[in-house]
Amino acid sequence: MYRVDSSKAEEFIHHGEITASLAYAAENAGNRPLLESILRKAEEGRGLTHREALLLLDTRDEELTERMFALARRIKEHIYGNRIVMFAPLYLSNYCVNGCVYCPYHLKNKHIPRRKLTQEEIRREVTALQDMGHKRLALEAGEDPRNNPLEYILESIDTIYSIRHRNGAIRRVNVNIAATTVENYRRLRDAGIGTYILFQETYDKAAYEALHPTGPKSDYAYHTEAMDRAMQGGIDDVGIGVLFGLTDCRYDFTGLLMHAEHLEAVYGVGPHTISVPRICPADDIDTAAFPNAVSDELFRRIVAVLRIAVPYTGMIVSTRESQRSREQVLELGISQISGGSRTGVGGYAAGEEEASHASAQFDVSDTRTLDQIVGWLVGLGYIPSFCTACYREGRTGDRFMQLAKQGKIADCCSPNALMTLKEYLTDYASEATRRAGEELIARELLRLPNERVREITARRLKAIAEGERDFRF
Ligand code: SF4
Ligand code: SF4
Repeated sequence: MYRVDSSKAEEFIHHGEITASLAYAAENAGNRPLLESILRKAEEGRGLTHREALLLLDTRDEELTERMFALARRIKEHIYGNRIVMFAPLYLSNYCVNGCVYCPYHLKNKHIPRRKLTQEEIRREVTALQDMGHKRLALEAGEDPRNNPLEYILESIDTIYSIRHRNGAIRRVNVNIAATTVENYRRLRDAGIGTYILFQETYDKAAYEALHPTGPKSDYAYHTEAMDRAMQGGIDDVGIGVLFGLTDCRYDFTGLLMHAEHLEAVYGVGPHTISVPRICPADDIDTAAFPNAVSDELFRRIVAVLRIAVPYTGMIVSTRESQRSREQVLELGISQISGGSRTGVGGYAAGEEEASHASAQFDVSDTRTLDQIVGWLVGLGYIPSFCTACYREGRTGDRFMQLAKQGKIADCCSPNALMTLKEYLTDYASEATRRAGEELIARELLRLPNERVREITARRLKAIAEGERDFRF
């Protein structure tokens, strides 16, 4: 039976409810009055149910589609303003005991060199990341209790937070590691992590079991219930996602929203972020084996409808996506992107030329440097933001959601974006990016609606130019 507040994976991600929703969407694809009423509800900015969202995703009515895209743009602008938060992944280890058929780190792949960073190597990676200008990382590691035990992850987090190179500092470490126990989530929380990220890959149990034939990750229920254990362990910012293209993306789209509804129903707070990766090439992975690959057009619709359905959840795209594709989805709802990423172990200290391609988890489509990405965002009128303020100010979980729901989070995001961009421009940017960025800051400062915030921000921008760092609202 479908129960949104059940503790059992197969009840809150209920196969029957998903297939009934898919059938309902197919039956009502031409039901214009119903679609109109869903759009009207969406315009109130309080989100949609998974069924309503699926109907919007499926509509082929051009006029309704245009209205849907326009609404996604408006919601994004209203809640997040025009800042785009920057982060970088840091791969600690590609040892993995699982058999995920779409990932080159799977146990049986003998082509790739296996590698795990020592604490000294982590120092070198983090120094390189700080010298690029990054302040926010997402730690990535395969599942391997012998090579990558939790103690190794915790020690690595300590190392990362302790490094100060020139004006650099990593101020927020998000963690993407395998599903674990409540006790281990408590230890991660105590280590001061930002968001705990775990992708479901697919919510379709039969497909999940076929795609994960061996290893601890093959347990669908344990994996699907991981976010419940994370919340019980005191982590209140969790990031979910699927790998679109593994199976029917409409099934996974529905499951993703049901997962968000479940977390909201049980813990009073939905996911902090949703990531939207698509299947792409990598070593030992034959993408032709995945006939459900998602087209650019469908990808845009997915992003826009998610933006409308869960307005207060940040949305992330990585460098898997090309510059063109990222540009298209930024305006429709994406609020966070990675930049200058290396997706292999040890890729940052190895430098531009030798990017550890042989051990990359996936091929990077957007290969630009962080400076180029910052310059590009500025050119498009976005404020690239290195802000990490919320979790450091205790604005996590429901405290964050309350502010977001009152439409107040942008009051913090915009000045914080300007101040952290100023730090970036002062410490790391090329001359061209610096000039364009300074012009943007001057313009955007005048647009801050609150006079007092504007004055304080102006003073702090001056202090940053004179050498002070790390201001935040
Ligand atoms: Fe291991 Fe994760 Fe890759 Fe699966 S997706 S093989 S768990 S690193
Ligand atoms: Fe993110 Fe909070 Fe900073 Fe806004 S103020 S960019 S929500 S950390």
